[in-house]
Amino acid sequence: MPTIKNMLARKVFDSRGVETLEIDIITENGFGRVAAPFGAPGSRGKFEVPAYSPEGLNKSIEIIETEIKPKILGLSSTDQERIDSILREIDGTNNFKRIGGNTSSSISLAVAKAAASALRIPLYKYLALNNNFTYPYPLGNMIGGGAHGMGSAPDMQEHLVAPIGARNIEEAVTANIKVHEKIGKVLEVKDLSFAGGMDDERAWVANLTDVEALDIIYDVCHEATEKTGIRFGIGLDLAADRLWNPETKEYEYQREGKSRTTEEQINFLSSLIERYSLFYVEDAFHSDDYLSFAVLNKKYGKRCFICADDLFASNPERTKRGIKLNSANAMILKPNQVGTLTATLETFKIAQENKVKVVVSHRSGETYDASIAHIAVGWQLSMIKTGVLGGERLAKLNELLRISEDYGMADLRPSPYF
Ligand code: PGA
Ligand code: ZN
Repeated sequence: MPTIKNMLARKVFDSRGVETLEIDIITENGFGRVAAPFGAPGSRGKFEVPAYSPEGLNKSIEIIETEIKPKILGLSSTDQERIDSILREIDGTNNFKRIGGNTSSSISLAVAKAAASALRIPLYKYLALNNNFTYPYPLGNMIGGGAHGMGSAPDMQEHLVAPIGARNIEEAVTANIKVHEKIGKVLEVKDLSFAGGMDDERAWVANLTDVEALDIIYDVCHEATEKTGIRFGIGLDLAADRLWNPETKEYEYQREGKSRTTEEQINFLSSLIERYSLFYVEDAFHSDDYLSFAVLNKKYGKRCFICADDLFASNPERTKRGIKLNSANAMILKPNQVGTLTATLETFKIAQENKVKVVVSHRSGETYDASIAHIAVGWQLSMIKTGVLGGERLAKLNELLRISEDYGMADLRPSPYF
């Protein structure tokens, strides 16, 4: 039976060593456990729901014990929408300002996991919208910077690679790991101060400008293609909120020692898209600038994912607005940015109806939880952004390999969808 018999909330630690919330949902014959991930200060989107109660994680746990648990025990774990709307009602603020989005999203996902477990089916099948499944291309963070870096590092947050010519998920995961390894070897030679450092997402951190980082990635990918025949796409996440100075109205590239007006930012990105044939550019502008996103999307949307993360914040209303303005042809989906599985699905459907590609994503502070791998397969998403190395990143990639054991080593998404 999927009836919820018990619910436990505890404090555990995420991959950064920061306290986070873990939820257990126990049904008569099922079990779901989720620990919430967390974005980095300076990188979390300003339009995301807050993670916890304004009084902190302990207060969120107290609210779970005294207010949420009594209302959820006895309900069916398969009644996702009802449980998610109860969470919203208890919160009472419409954007999880009182209980926190990590509180609601970890309960929401643990409920789904418990339901799948009670029904004896894998989560991706429980989440399925129809009977079709596809594997996402893994988008891996190779060289880090921005809010995720420490010391002298590139200004942009993530320099990314996806093995877009890989034939199946195992080949794709392997290819990204090999590229990451090779980039480390090149950095050892090119940057004498390099000591093997990695950021929170296990991307290499080296004393480079963004262009130098892209040059290295471009060469390594080129060589890997010659060796393996697999084509790679190169991408960026600028997380541009952090570069933007609202007073001077310029993007400040500290490592490079240069500031760019919005127009110069558009020109700079255009030159990078052309020079490195970039296939993916995320958060190229600050998260109030729908219109500059639209300029870049108009110019390059046919050949490059112009992706909105902090701009849309997985939020249905912001996504609708961005679609109306044609700001992006792709978006990041992070359940804890919006608060529940139901709200995440609502945003996904808006994107899907408007042919906006969806990339489900980890956070920089992560846990073992691999729900996003199941969401990617069950909802047939284009890509999964989850890093390349580290137990908490590999938890998602390895889960895709386990799913392929259940569903079969099917092809990756065919290119018209991708
Ligand atoms: P965050 O960064 O998890 O630290 O917010 C990830 C991203 O910006 O994509
Ligand atoms: Zn981002």
